[in-house]
Amino acid sequence: MPDADLRPHRRGQVLREDTIFAVATAPGRAGIAILRVSGREAVHALQRLRGHGGAGPQPRRATLCRFRDGAGGVIDEGLFLWFPRHNSFTGEDVVELHVHGGRAVVSAMLDELSRMPGLRPAEPGEFTRRAFENGRLDLTAVEGLADLVAADTPAQRRQALRQLSGRLAGVYDDWTGRLTRALAWLEAEIDFADEDLPDGIGAATRTAVAAVRTEMAAHLADGRRGEIVRDGFSIAIVGPPNAGKSSLLNALAQRDAAIVAETAGTTRDVVEVRLDIGGYAAVVADTAGLRSGADPVEEEGIRRALARASQADLVLVLVDATDPGAAAGIRDRLRDAGVADMMVCANKVDLVALEGKSAIDDHAAHPLSVRTGAGMAELLAALAHRIADHVGKETEAPVLSRLRHRLAIEACVDHLSRFAGVTQPDLAAEDVRLAVRELGRITGRVDVEDLLDVIFRDFCIGK
Ligand code: GDP
Repeated sequence: MPDADLRPHRRGQVLREDTIFAVATAPGRAGIAILRVSGREAVHALQRLRGHGGAGPQPRRATLCRFRDGAGGVIDEGLFLWFPRHNSFTGEDVVELHVHGGRAVVSAMLDELSRMPGLRPAEPGEFTRRAFENGRLDLTAVEGLADLVAADTPAQRRQALRQLSGRLAGVYDDWTGRLTRALAWLEAEIDFADEDLPDGIGAATRTAVAAVRTEMAAHLADGRRGEIVRDGFSIAIVGPPNAGKSSLLNALAQRDAAIVAETAGTTRDVVEVRLDIGGYAAVVADTAGLRSGADPVEEEGIRRALARASQADLVLVLVDATDPGAAAGIRDRLRDAGVADMMVCANKVDLVALEGKSAIDDHAAHPLSVRTGAGMAELLAALAHRIADHVGKETEAPVLSRLRHRLAIEACVDHLSRFAGVTQPDLAAEDVRLAVRELGRITGRVDVEDLLDVIFRDFCIGK
């Protein structure tokens, strides 16, 4: 880890004029509703709601009280908590009001709060934005929080929690610190060329930068593990018309997501369903049937099916069990479209007599009947197994979870690769500076100049 001083600056406290409030719990009727108030007026607002009765609030302690309207009438009895600033979610004074979750209670509380001077309803995401601007969370933690709130599967939850706790930011801060130190030495070479700099500093700088670049490349070569966990493992179902693709998707989704029809070629667009398969998020897409001689609209569907299939993490080739030989041609077409990972299923085994089963085996196809449910459990288990293989063993090491991060790190590697081929210190410094900027964009900490100030103070060169 870098020295504390080399850590990117946290932004200073931003105390805004407005105190904001919002209901923190989901809308609708519930046992309890929590309202949150953040800002310099938060404690004052609390005291007004208590009718200015009772002692001042104790920090971080749940206290029972009666909340009153401006005329002194009781709105509800509930709990409040006060989180003093510096140690609160937003970095400002935060008050939480726990009331009964009826609509009339909540709206009376909101009415009361909106009548108070200096208070206004919060914009979407404004509490978290204040947390970011007050340096309580970096951008990767903000994203982790959003992912945690949206998490549907255990794997998503665990990954989001790791990101929220700052593990990913820790990696990026470490790289930022090391690159900034290298940058400072490069700048020193430029600015203080006539002065005595320690011997071998140029070589040490290059080694340090190369080490960061190697770590970044390893971070990128993760098989998109984090992104798959977050966005879902994508599975495209591809096969001839009428093989039962829409029926399979419906069976997986347990609701009617795609049209199932007796006439061939009804699924002209791509229909997607999000599923939890073995604890992982998966996005399953039903695509148009692959067949030639289709009308122009259907041809477009086929084109989309292939495009979609080539982007999928896995293609499920679904053929009719009465014609399992169709799988070979489809595999070739998919391979030409750049698809690497496929799994073949022969559907409608309920229509196939015993002797037909060996033909299915010959094509190494997974036997299935969407109609009777035969083979469905095995298919799901096989899919879960494939996803687990892709995602790899879950480790505690932070992983890239968003394309935004990936693109920024790729840009860093590009800058640092160019750095390796440059000899003039000013050009070399510029490449490192650009890499540091990219890292700063991931975490939202972009104060490179401030960092340089810190480092130059430590140098004591030339005063
Ligand atoms: P798609 O064109 O590949 O999407 O096929 P559909 O899902 O629309 O299904 C075509 C027809 O096959 C429909 O009439 C389904 O009811 C029928 N079908 C689907 N799965 C099975 C199955 O396992 N067994 C039998 N016998 N029929 C099925």
